[in-house]
Parts: sequence; structure tokens; C-alpha cells
Amino acid sequence: MPKLAAGNWKMNGLDDSLAEIDALVAAHPAPGCDVLLCLPATLLTRAAGHIAGTAVMIGAQDCHPATSGAHTGDISAPMLADAGASYVILGHSERRADHGETDALVAEKAIAAATAGLTPIICVGETLDQRDAGDTLDVVGTQLSGSVPPALGNVVIAYEPVWAIGTGKVPTLEQIGEVHGFIRSQLQGMGATFLADATPILYGGSVKPSNAAEIFAVADVDGALVGGASLKAADFSGIIAALEAA
Ligand code: PEP
Repeated sequence: MPKLAAGNWKMNGLDDSLAEIDALVAAHPAPGCDVLLCLPATLLTRAAGHIAGTAVMIGAQDCHPATSGAHTGDISAPMLADAGASYVILGHSERRADHGETDALVAEKAIAAATAGLTPIICVGETLDQRDAGDTLDVVGTQLSGSVPPALGNVVIAYEPVWAIGTGKVPTLEQIGEVHGFIRSQLQGMGATFLADATPILYGGSVKPSNAAEIFAVADVDGALVGGASLKAADFSGIIAALEAA
């Protein structure tokens, strides 16, 4: 399966940030992996002009489960597709925490995204308390079975330990391997239409150019979801290069 380097700009980026997209495109005219930037919705249409005809793709960071209607402030999956997105991050831990998103809501959003032709990137991951209590696999297993609709054939899973996001802390390679192997086996058990072996499983949480190569060498790590280090083309390029070499 193609490996995927996905950036998550979160609530960052104004017009001058488009120069970073130009720099990324220039640095990777023919990348040896899929390259995606999940941008704030306000930048999607402008960014679409900057990536047209290049190998870099753009995506969004959330969508509403409905296609349209009386949902002030929300954005639907067809709107994101219309703006040029081809992926959408769903169930990021910041949305689960800030907006009380449940597994069931994330699953509804994933179906809406797929129906609109977007590839959902569904995020799962434990808090530090849950890891310390020995509950990591239970938590991740529950999130997977609740958030990933088994009927979907084209999804990406991102394993993002909450305690590793934006903290500079990274699990050991053994811990990453254990959870990624578990996710792959859970996907295999989820249904005949689900392409478990073709589903990329990304690691996310404080990935940097300096630690990317060792993370990408772990079994069942098919790429990364990168927050802070995706904001600057030079940093994200280092991660892309590590994935190309993996
Ligand atoms: C993220 O927000 O998905 C993420 C992984 O952030 P960071 O790389 O900054 O830890």
C-alpha cells in the first residue's frame, strides 16, 4: 500500500502560510510516498490553486455528518470536497476533548466523508492515565470498533497517543509496534468488506525529522500524522524523506 505523510495544521495558517505549501511542492515534485496537508478550511480553496498539477494533496480536519442544513458554523463533507479536499481527519483527540465527540459521531462523520468521496483519517489513542492503568489496547479497541464503520473500504487509521501530541514525548518503538499490530489485527476481524491489509495505519505524536526514520522502521507503521512539524516545509520535508527511504 502507498505510505502516507499527512500534516495537520490544526488552527494555524493565514495567507502567508501558502508559501510553505509552495516550498513543499518544490521540494517534492515526485514524492516516493503520498503527501497530504490537512489545512484549516479557510485555506483550502486558495491552497487548491497552489497544489493543482502537483503530487501534494490537501485535506480538512473535521466535517459535519449531514450534507447541508441548519448547522451554524459547521462544514459538510461535500463542501470540503468542493473546496479541493481529498481527505478529512476525524475524531482527533483535540476534537474528542474540546467538542465531546463520541465514537458513534465519528463513525457517522466517516460515512458522510466517504459518501462525499473523501478518505477519512480516523484517529484513536489513549491518555496517559489510560496507558498507566494498562488499558491502552482496550481503549484503542473500543475506539476502533465504535469509530470505524466496517462497511467502509477506504479509510486511514491514525494511532495518536494523547500524551504524545505536541509534548515532545514519544512512546517506545515497542509500544508503537504493539499498538499498530493490535490495530491491524482488529481491522482484520472487522468485516469481509474491510480491506484490513490495505488500510494505512499512521503513527502520530511528536514526529520530527530526527525521530521519523526509527518510527517508520516499526512493523505496521505506514506513515505519520504530523502536527507541529508539518507547519514548516523544511521540517515536513525531512519526515517525507524518511518515509520515502523506509
Ligand atoms: C497531531 O495533532 O495530530 C499531532 C500528531 O501533533 P504533533 O505532531 O504536534 O504532536
